[in-house]
Amino acid sequence: MYIDCSNKELFVFKKIAGASSELGMPAFIIGGFVRDKIIGRATKDADIVCLGDGILLANKVAERFSPKPLVAFFKNFGTAQIKIDDFEIEFVGARKESYTVDSRNPEVEPGTIEDDQNRRDFTINALAISLNKENYGCLIDPFNGLADIDAKIIRTPLAPIQTFSDDPLRMMRAIRFAAQLQFHIEDNTFQAIKDNKQRISIVSQERITDELNKIMLSTKPSVGWHLLFTSGLLSIIFPQMVDLAGAQYIDGQGHKDNFYHTLQVLDNISAHTSDLWLRWAALLHDIGKPATKRFEEGHGWTFHGHEVVGARMVPKIFNKLKLPLNEKMRFVQKLVELHLRPISLTKENITDSAVRRLLFDAGDDIDALMLLCNADITSKNKFKVKRYTANFELVKNRMEEVEAQDKLRSWQPPITGELIMETFGLPPGRNVGIIKDAIREAILDGIISNDYQQAFDFMLQKGKELNLVPIA
Ligand code: ATP
Repeated sequence: MYIDCSNKELFVFKKIAGASSELGMPAFIIGGFVRDKIIGRATKDADIVCLGDGILLANKVAERFSPKPLVAFFKNFGTAQIKIDDFEIEFVGARKESYTVDSRNPEVEPGTIEDDQNRRDFTINALAISLNKENYGCLIDPFNGLADIDAKIIRTPLAPIQTFSDDPLRMMRAIRFAAQLQFHIEDNTFQAIKDNKQRISIVSQERITDELNKIMLSTKPSVGWHLLFTSGLLSIIFPQMVDLAGAQYIDGQGHKDNFYHTLQVLDNISAHTSDLWLRWAALLHDIGKPATKRFEEGHGWTFHGHEVVGARMVPKIFNKLKLPLNEKMRFVQKLVELHLRPISLTKENITDSAVRRLLFDAGDDIDALMLLCNADITSKNKFKVKRYTANFELVKNRMEEVEAQDKLRSWQPPITGELIMETFGLPPGRNVGIIKDAIREAILDGIISNDYQQAFDFMLQKGKELNLVPIA
């Protein structure tokens, strides 16, 4: 076998070869599996293309295993899937495709292995390995995909203009592969993306966002966002990001380019977390800056309130990108809103009360917030970075001290609303809220500590001030 496979994979491929020979239906491993094996990336599933009916071949293969695996098939698409332990294998007949201008879904007809390789998006994705007797295990590489893997190049097998015009999702895929594999998009191929960028409008938002998420999860996501920007795709699919780009100058004073700053923050945080949503928070942390940018005489550039404006933009952006409108979105929103808080603490004396309030507001997301805040330190000026980092460490240490003392992370009020109502014989109403809020504020201000007895006594005192009398 040309590629290095596990024993299980080899065992499965032998069974497929047996079934394909029995049916007289040549079969090949094709696409991502071959690419990733050659690169040395982890693989999970394999695509098999055959010269005939893929569903029939899948059933014949399944019969050769005991117990016989389930064959999941989609008659409309002519595809079938079996799973041997955790190894998924998908079968489809080789096809020839032709496109119409208003859809990325082609007309298909049965074809040869060459036809099937011609319809692949990139040379590195068009590699096939024969499972047939005469050349079992040989690589079939009509477009020099192997050389492109060696040279780390992404290039289309046929004319790129046509390839991207036929299916504009391929433009997103090119950039995603460039980001995931750290490959270079060959010049003509990249130029064709620029020339076809408007065609992205026929691709569904879900497919675009799938690719964005894959870019986000790559080791250095800035690579993908930078290519989206320079290709011109970004201004179509996510114009608010483009608004961050550029530095304006007035009276010789400029501000930093917030697009590149954002990408730096994103890469910084990606070195410490693979949490998709924390990475989105990094991408969006300054999204409110363009809307709040002002030049103040004597002061220079300001972005007052950009964290609040940015947090307000998050649901709209998630909605447009069809990202989930659930607790993930609220997490991103919260981080955008709070991203200045840890560092701004250092502008004044770091009081315990301010630290407690931050712990209270961030709750369980405090560690994520601190990661974001640390990633946000990106100045080119080494002294500034040193000073910010020292300030950041100071806040971190103070937070650890206050936390150890007060246990505010997943704060539950020591006195519940029910207990307040029970104690004073109150119906639900305004006074219950007043007492509850007063207890919380007293804890945050350090007037009482975060424990039951002190909070209970404080409740009695507060009740007295409101002319309430305990009933028992
Ligand atoms: P990954 O598994 O990392 O998402 P992949 O390309 O290996 O990427 P699929 O998206 O399942 O996995 O695609 C499998 C193969 O199908 C690709 O390797 C490529 O040959 C082909 N392919 C997928 N999408 C397209 C497309 N839009 N146009 C042309 N060929 C495509």
